[in-house]
Amino acid sequence: MSERWFPDEMPVPGVNAETNGWWEAASRHRLVVQRCTACGATRHPPGPICPQCRSTASEWLDLRGTGTVFTFTVVRQAFIPSLAEQLPYVVIAVELDGAEGARIVSNLIDIEPCDVSIGMHVEVVWEDMGPQLAVPRFRATTDAKGARG
Ligand SMILES: [Zn+2]
Repeated sequence: MSERWFPDEMPVPGVNAETNGWWEAASRHRLVVQRCTACGATRHPPGPICPQCRSTASEWLDLRGTGTVFTFTVVRQAFIPSLAEQLPYVVIAVELDGAEGARIVSNLIDIEPCDVSIGMHVEVVWEDMGPQLAVPRFRATTDAKGARG
């Protein structure tokens, strides 16, 4: 069972040869980042070559799904008409726990924009957009307020 926060028209990144493994993990509600098996550097979004050492060898590192808001913005204009009912909504960059610096851009849901702050703690929630397509969104954790400076 999965909640929905955005309509089907909400754009999702395209799947290609480099990102297919990431989306396959996501479809099973596993949040992963790509890690170079030569030097250990993590990266997101996935790509064919390590930007640190140029190795093409990589693996998927499973994450707990928790993290910290690195930065955010509030969307107040519906560039896609069917998103008008979602306004305003929050776009965040999350510094993922255990990802060794890799960040993901997503949405923070179930929160008023005025309550969002950099450094607050968040955790992943999965939105099943289709039978094979799950998109990670994030929600403030119960201790999120304690993280505010
Ligand atoms: Zn590397």
